[in-house]
Amino acid sequence: MKKKIAIIGSGIGGLTLANLLKNNSNFEFVIYEKEEAFNLEEGFGIQLSVNSIIILNKIGFNQLNKNQKYNPAKLDFFSDNFNKICDLDLTIFNSGDCKYTTLKRSILINFLKEKLLSNSIIFGKKINDIQQQNGKINIHFIDGSSDKVDYLIVADGIFSNTKSVIEKKIFKPNYYGAIAIRTQIKNQDVVNLNSNNISLIMLSNAHMVLYPINQQKELNLVCIIRKKLGDKNSTNTILENTILKEDKNLINFFNGDLKSWPIYTSNNPIKSNQKNVLYIGDAFHAFPPTLAQGASQAIVSANEIFELINSNHKDISNVYFKNRIKKTNQIYKRSKINYFGFHITSPLLKILRNFFLKRLVKNKNFIQSYLGKIYKI
Ligand SMILES: Cc1cc2nc3c(=O)[nH]c(=O)nc-3n(C[C@H](O)[C@H](O)[C@H](O)COP(=O)(O)OP(=O)(O)OC[C@H]3O[C@@H](n4cnc5c(N)ncnc54)[C@H](O)[C@@H]3O)c2cc1C
Repeated sequence: MKKKIAIIGSGIGGLTLANLLKNNSNFEFVIYEKEEAFNLEEGFGIQLSVNSIIILNKIGFNQLNKNQKYNPAKLDFFSDNFNKICDLDLTIFNSGDCKYTTLKRSILINFLKEKLLSNSIIFGKKINDIQQQNGKINIHFIDGSSDKVDYLIVADGIFSNTKSVIEKKIFKPNYYGAIAIRTQIKNQDVVNLNSNNISLIMLSNAHMVLYPINQQKELNLVCIIRKKLGDKNSTNTILENTILKEDKNLINFFNGDLKSWPIYTSNNPIKSNQKNVLYIGDAFHAFPPTLAQGASQAIVSANEIFELINSNHKDISNVYFKNRIKKTNQIYKRSKINYFGFHITSPLLKILRNFFLKRLVKNKNFIQSYLGKIYKI
């Protein structure tokens, strides 16, 4: 008999898992999403490293219209005043059609949802309670409906309410002490940077990342700025007191629509107390954005679950948790190191950072160990 899988959340992780299951006739699945429709907001960009592209290509990402994505070859590092420090060759991680990719988030979500039948996703659903019954999981929804499944995969993002409901304990993410400000900019506004590459501009207590999201060279800009919890200043005032204070010319980058939100990360990941209940993506653990691994890890963790369920592994929960926690720790540590390095304020430390950075990007062993370990599945 077919195994039934319920996926909670139609974000990047949930949709990836559904696409992997779709091609396997041993399973039936359904996605339950709390919103009434997909969030296809146009403006946001996303970076995907090769570890996730390998998985997406299995479900046809390599056939996505080439105009809708971009493969940057380099990451350029800058200090204040657009002084270029060095660059990192991103192509060393690429192989065949698995390449470091940037694109609009809405393009990725569209690609993932397009391949699913419309009845695979049920909107407006939130779990109220679950019970174990004769080896199955009985899910009760807030609207009074229910479902009986073999596996319950929770992919409801950083604010995972489902985790609190299932584990009967409140889980709250932690404010990371920073906000993100996003906007889109035009190619012609970028004069001091190479708009073919990813540019990382390291300032005091802030950094900016700029990259093309398609062949038309529309550019995504995200700024991560340290901000105390009680600080009530508006986005424009925060920009003026931080990034623009260091370089007034950067004002040209912020003429468009600005979106801002606080950055949260998770506490330690947990293994569910419930049999055959597993957490993926940000619901398992959300990272600081300084290694750009959130979406990639949502995809990789979806694939890990798929492989284990597909091979009918006897100890899915323990094997998954052991692998995931190891990867999570590696990424979390590196994201914290990057966060520190990107936001240095002391002029002396900046000189030292730039000195070491120039050497480290050319050190193949270091790069393979620092990034290669993450980019390998
Ligand atoms: C500033 C910033 C920049 C980033 N840049 C990058 C980047 O460049 N590269 C990268 O890899 N990652 C990036 N990320 C991270 C990335 O966006 C997330 O890690 C990724 O979207 C997580 O995917 P997910 O599927 O786990 O959750 P999500 O994509 O958040 O999806 C969760 C889904 O679950 C639904 N949901 C929520 N609660 C419930 C519920 N109770 N019941 C049912 N459904 C529910 C939500 O509506 C949503 O559809 C960035 C994050 C930030 C903050």
